[in-house]
Amino acid sequence: MFHLKDAIPEPFWLTQAGAPAPADPLDGVTTADLAVVGAGYSGLWTALIAKERNPSLDVVIVEAGTAGWAASGRNGGFCAASITHGFDNGMSRFPDEMDTLLRLGQENLDEIGAAVDRYAIDCDFHRSGELHVATEEWQWRELQAGFAAEAAHGLDVELLDRDAVRAEVDSPTYRGAVLDRTGCALVDPARLAWGLRQACLSLGVRIYENSPVQRVAASSAALTLHTWRGSVRARQVVLATGAHGRLLKRLQQFIVPVYDYALMTEPLSEAQLAAIGWRNRQGIGDSGNQFHYYRLTADNRILWGGYDAVYFNGGRIEPSHDQRESTFKVLADHFATTFPQLEGLRFTNKWGGVIDCCSRFSAFFGTAHGGRLAYAAGYTGLGVGATRFGAKVMLDLLAGAPTELTRLKMVRSKPVPFPPEPVRSGVIQLTRWSIARADANQGRRNLWLRTLDAMGLGFDS
Ligand SMILES: Cc1cc2nc3c(=O)[nH]c(=O)nc-3n(C[C@H](O)[C@H](O)[C@H](O)COP(=O)(O)OP(=O)(O)OC[C@H]3O[C@@H](n4cnc5c(N)ncnc54)[C@H](O)[C@@H]3O)c2cc1C
Repeated sequence: MFHLKDAIPEPFWLTQAGAPAPADPLDGVTTADLAVVGAGYSGLWTALIAKERNPSLDVVIVEAGTAGWAASGRNGGFCAASITHGFDNGMSRFPDEMDTLLRLGQENLDEIGAAVDRYAIDCDFHRSGELHVATEEWQWRELQAGFAAEAAHGLDVELLDRDAVRAEVDSPTYRGAVLDRTGCALVDPARLAWGLRQACLSLGVRIYENSPVQRVAASSAALTLHTWRGSVRARQVVLATGAHGRLLKRLQQFIVPVYDYALMTEPLSEAQLAAIGWRNRQGIGDSGNQFHYYRLTADNRILWGGYDAVYFNGGRIEPSHDQRESTFKVLADHFATTFPQLEGLRFTNKWGGVIDCCSRFSAFFGTAHGGRLAYAAGYTGLGVGATRFGAKVMLDLLAGAPTELTRLKMVRSKPVPFPPEPVRSGVIQLTRWSIARADANQGRRNLWLRTLDAMGLGFDS
């Protein structure tokens, strides 16, 4: 029996001590060279790198809530090198440039580590690696095939059979695993956001919080962001609004808000930790189409999330959707199956958050207003690391001259758009149902999923 009843309905990370006091809202009229909308990782990295590239640039961030309150402060903290939502997804969409994307992703992760050191960000950033575990025979077959391809492309991976993976982390459900030794760091997500916010301030970025931007107005001279009580007139604008973006109409055809949920346990005792091993503290993901991700925190809690990716018909983003008892119950049951040794452990937190899902599962990029506004969106649940890559892409797009990043097919192409509502809801729910069936049916994909696969479309967390 695992206890959910005392779990508080708040993201564990955001309830920690150390949250910065909110900055003043935008009040009155101001100007900037670059105005960034959104202070999640995407906006914070953009502002930070813009200042690093040109310290005299006047950069402003306008944030609807407070920095990191949304996905960036409540995620699993898996900071992956992959900028393509995993190797398989990248290979299926950008096979010709996959080696370049792998290199750029590794460089990006290295640079995140370097920035964490440079700005002394206290966010428990550790290159712990990631175990991709199989809990069913069909997953094990797929993992082995994937391992061979990853190894052939130079990834630092190792195949672990049942005994070897259980020597790392002891779950009776494990059938085998691929260990990615260097392609993932674990991080305290809220403290990363708070640290990036502080780094921005230290370089002179001005941040306005509790200031939702209502609209972007364009004139030949400038773009102007309007909030309830003020405005920013800027030469260039970056939209870093994640799943929340409503400011640019064309984005809405490409992204749907999908909810992802997580639980946090109380800290494990020494004996409980010893019962499951996990000495090397890797992040872990299982390999169904609906997958769990889990990891240890600095104080030896287990964050346990994923599996149920929920689209609420109509695509509305509502605070009430952050809590979903039926999903928490499913997650708790699956936790019990994975770690029966931890019987009696209590969950202290339960929460959800919204991810910007697109049909190619990895970010897309673009400009509007004659190249003066840039956007990146569609990280589909793997944006902790990739948003920094996206920030560089947006700044390169605004600079105008072609660069290695802006020449990439991944940057030049767009995902297949979603159909409008109500067809959109129907298509997504049919896909979710089919995926659940595939997982229950040895991974066998029905006609609908095979059709989507053939069209390069799909739905994933
Ligand atoms: C439960 C959960 C677990 C996850 N786990 C992982 C993981 O382990 N690894 C991983 O890589 N990814 C994970 N993700 C995804 C990851 O958190 C996101 O990809 C990433 O944080 C996206 O950053 P962002 O800056 O684009 O978006 P956000 O963090 O959502 O930030 C967007 C910001 O824009 C602001 N904004 C929006 N509209 C306006 C406006 N009009 N005016 C002003 N401000 C505005 C919002 O208030 C918000 O602060 C997870 C997500 C969730 C929800």
